[in-house]
Amino acid sequence: MVTKAITAATIGINSCKIEVEVDVTNSLPNISIVGLPDSAVSEAKERVHSAIKNSGFTFPTGKVIVNLAPADIRKEGTNFDLPIAIGILKEQGILIPDDLTIAFLGELSLDGSLRKINGVLPLVSGLKNCGIKTVFVPYENAKEAALVQDINVYGAKHLGDIVNHFAEIPIVKTTVDINKYLEENSQTEYSYDFKDVKGQQKAKKALEIAAAGGHNILMSGSPGSGKTLMAKCMASILPPLELQEAMELTKIYSISGLLQSDNPLMTKRPYRSVHHTASQNGIIGGGSNPKPGEITLAHRGVLFLDEIAEFPRQVLEVLRQPLEDGEVVISRAKNSIKYPAKFMLVGAMNPCPCGFLGDKEKDCTCSDFQIQRYRSKLSGPLLDRIDLIVNVPRLTTEELINTKTKAEPSYEIRKRVVKARKIQAKRYENEGILTNSELNSKQIKLFCKLDTKCSDFMKVAAQKYQLSGRKYDRILKLARTIADLNHQENITVEHLSQALQYRVDIA
Ligand SMILES: [Zn+2]
Repeated sequence: MVTKAITAATIGINSCKIEVEVDVTNSLPNISIVGLPDSAVSEAKERVHSAIKNSGFTFPTGKVIVNLAPADIRKEGTNFDLPIAIGILKEQGILIPDDLTIAFLGELSLDGSLRKINGVLPLVSGLKNCGIKTVFVPYENAKEAALVQDINVYGAKHLGDIVNHFAEIPIVKTTVDINKYLEENSQTEYSYDFKDVKGQQKAKKALEIAAAGGHNILMSGSPGSGKTLMAKCMASILPPLELQEAMELTKIYSISGLLQSDNPLMTKRPYRSVHHTASQNGIIGGGSNPKPGEITLAHRGVLFLDEIAEFPRQVLEVLRQPLEDGEVVISRAKNSIKYPAKFMLVGAMNPCPCGFLGDKEKDCTCSDFQIQRYRSKLSGPLLDRIDLIVNVPRLTTEELINTKTKAEPSYEIRKRVVKARKIQAKRYENEGILTNSELNSKQIKLFCKLDTKCSDFMKVAAQKYQLSGRKYDRILKLARTIADLNHQENITVEHLSQALQYRVDIA
């Protein structure tokens, strides 16, 4: 007799339903798994065999064939252990209802206990979309699974607990209050605050504009000017995550195995800082068992590239596409997968190799050729995707010792950012975007209208600075954000000229 058990497989940050079919034939005792399993799935044989025996059940004596259908989807990971075991137990006549609206996910250890797996949120939400009503998951994954509404979630510690559940000892259903998780977030404390950053008014304003519109920004300045500290402070002025964004982010962190089991919902915008020695796969994503890279882990948050000119040119080139599309496509032998990657790029660089070009107190020791070669590492097309470029000079000794003027705390800046984001969310409610930085050229025409005075101003600017079409559009988007921060419906020449000063390339 062929028995069936339902489970799921992840594809990118989504998933699809998988049927596990089990058949036992009168042949030499053996177990084989077919249906495009990877090595972790193939190893399920050994784990399932031991787990069934050590849980006090008998393992079939003939040849066990396990088919994972549909066969054209690659099955990765260890979540297939439990459904395979359930299929075998059903075959053995153990009383588990033959109800195909119940699904099973989990890794088994040799003694039959269930181990935490990655990707539970995308797996369960995919199952719910396929009409599954009930899901059994490892106990440690139960809260995460219960983030999906309108599906019954049971967290089991042991294979035996699931069999008992259908006999006389039911497992308690897991439920969570998503709003409570989101509320807890609003009281978050941040490790870095703009109140601790002295001076740098212009750079701070630029970062505020970047946060308000979701714009990419590059800071250029000497070592010790506070670029890295200010980048770290960005997290403290970004608006709270909306539920939909939080769920999206949680899916990414779930498949990456980076969630906490006690508080599974990601409620803070990510801040990812990447070193120039990181591998391309680590930054972009990929590998033989593809995993999201830093650009996906920074989704809806900040990706900070310190010393951006030190990154391999190849890596910077690969960043261009995700910066444009908000997603990254990882090609593989048979198919390709997509990961979301809507991040804000915050870059920092020295103005020259020695770092002191334009410094008030120290002399630059670089030749013109060295400076030119250093800057050319940031290709034009990458710079075209950066909306704001701001010079961050080192503070003078006088400015450093000045303790009289207090800097504005992050929560005050954040209030303005949140207001500006609300204006954008309302304006774009039918456009499928959230911020000005996401406007496409058609939407720019619609939402960044210029009066005659403004277009005359831009005509002159375009000629004077030899603006490419892309740069021109970016200035309009930036001006839109500056207008939103000032609660003004129309873009003015004042907004445009402010936007323009952030677009004139590195000093
Ligand atoms: Zn120099």
